[in-house]
Amino acid sequence: MKCPACGNELTPLKIGQITVDVCKNGCGGVWFDKAELLQFDEPDEKAGEILVSIQRNTDVAVNTDAKHKCPRCGNIVMMRHYFTIKREVAIDECPKCGGIWLDAGELDAIRKEYISEKSRDEDAQKFIESNFGKKLDEMTRESKEKAQRAKKFAKIFRFLCPSYYIKGKQNWGAF
Ligand SMILES: [Zn+2]
Ligand SMILES: [Zn+2]
Repeated sequence: MKCPACGNELTPLKIGQITVDVCKNGCGGVWFDKAELLQFDEPDEKAGEILVSIQRNTDVAVNTDAKHKCPRCGNIVMMRHYFTIKREVAIDECPKCGGIWLDAGELDAIRKEYISEKSRDEDAQKFIESNFGKKLDEMTRESKEKAQRAKKFAKIFRFLCPSYYIKGKQNWGAF
């Protein structure tokens, strides 16, 4: 697969139980297949650190405003979603295969944003409610698709910042 941001060949990288595709020696972005994301369960403390320390080529300039095409589907343009608690983070999602692309800058931002957070549970709840408007169990009753999307994005944050989540402690809808 080719990097959707800079065209470099993506490199598979196994982290814990899942394999992601990283733009090593390129822009440093990361691709998550939907199946890998849904499989991901146990937080791995090292995952986020490994991903932000991917070797980058500093000569590669990425236009972060440009829309990216899905590296898996080829000609499908990915949709950009913006999430926020304290600052805005952009995530590209393929409408066809459900995969997720994160630019290297977004990875850094997510890590910096959440790693030192003290009121984790409160902010995790805020994340779901401010970005999706409802608690996860209410969403599941209304729309399975919406709940699945919320879960998928929440899993990315969890994957990047495992210390932000405490397994089983989210009484508002564990994911
Ligand atoms: Zn790249
Ligand atoms: Zn796709």
